[in-house]
Amino acid sequence: MSKGPLAARIARLIAAEGPISVAAFVAMALHDPNDGYYAHAQPIGADGDFITAPETSQIFGELIGLWFARMWEAIGRPDPVVLAELGPGRGSLARDLLRAAGTVPVFRRALRLYLIETSPRLRAEQQRRLADAAPVWLDAIDGLPAGPLLLVANEFLDALPIRQFIRGPIGWSERMVALDPAGALVFADMRASPAAALLAEQARRGSALSDEIVEICPAALALAASLGDRLVHQPGAALFIDYGYADERRGMSLRAVRRHRPVPALEHPGAADLSADVDFGAFAQAARSAGAGIRGPVSQARFLTSLGAKVRLAALSAGASPAERSTLGQGLERLLDPEGMGGFKVMAMTSPNLPLPDDLAVLCKSP
Ligand code: SAH
Repeated sequence: MSKGPLAARIARLIAAEGPISVAAFVAMALHDPNDGYYAHAQPIGADGDFITAPETSQIFGELIGLWFARMWEAIGRPDPVVLAELGPGRGSLARDLLRAAGTVPVFRRALRLYLIETSPRLRAEQQRRLADAAPVWLDAIDGLPAGPLLLVANEFLDALPIRQFIRGPIGWSERMVALDPAGALVFADMRASPAAALLAEQARRGSALSDEIVEICPAALALAASLGDRLVHQPGAALFIDYGYADERRGMSLRAVRRHRPVPALEHPGAADLSADVDFGAFAQAARSAGAGIRGPVSQARFLTSLGAKVRLAALSAGASPAERSTLGQGLERLLDPEGMGGFKVMAMTSPNLPLPDDLAVLCKSP
């Protein structure tokens, strides 16, 4: 049975207007200004609901800083350059990235930090960690100033709402959130509208697989198209890291997590994190259609290893106590674990024809 004030409001909405799409449910559950998950929750960390790479090891943000230093050279060392992060969480990635950027002072001085974040609570935490860098907060990327751009997003795309479709004997159905006779939130597959069926059919044709289940993330596709368009007109590079698939897997992937445990997706709207696998294939296609270049995806393990993760670990360990050394080693191990975060995917979107330095060529190969 669904619980909480938001569940009751969603139930009233459905009773009045009929079933809503999974995307509409996710958008309310995550972003309702009063009771939405990101409005009040402390999602990330041991005392939160889930853990992420920048919270696991400082090496993650540092190596991304190194990657951006090289991309900055590739786009002609512009000063100033916008450094944007989508969904910066607790601000750890940006903090570690900026510290690493400090080893190339001209690069560090050129960076202007912009944080795209909807959660007021996380904005406050980012402010505490990043005050020295004088960040500017925005609600969406269209507010970013024009000019050269470096952008990073870790575990951001997976938080964008998805729609789910199923193909059966009668054609396409869309998975909706409805009410059962007792008034509880339940999934119900309903015949898709003609427009929705067309969308699902297009998504299925565009994929390498001909699965009967299709998930579409309209917000991710819109982001890929608008960022891709920007990178055609202004130099830059964007890095996306997330769990997901390129062409090897499809299916229902919406999941809810609370206190590090999976919970039923409809049970705790507003109190559990909701996410879905990222369709990197569709994301890449939307960016390419806009004219941008795409590199990867490669696995996170491969990306970090090629950037020198183990060398960095050795350098950090040299000055550390045995206890610190073990923490550092375990942190990196988690980032590289092929069954865990190491299996996440890293994809770069760049201005067209941007030469990629040789040592970053790993992003040109398949995972
Ligand atoms: N990148 C961080 C946090 C990942 S959690 C890390 O790796 O630790 C997802 C983040 O995206 C949170 O900061 C959340 O508040 C933010 N977020 C989710 N949906 C968003 C949206 N539509 N617009 C802006 N920020 C969003």
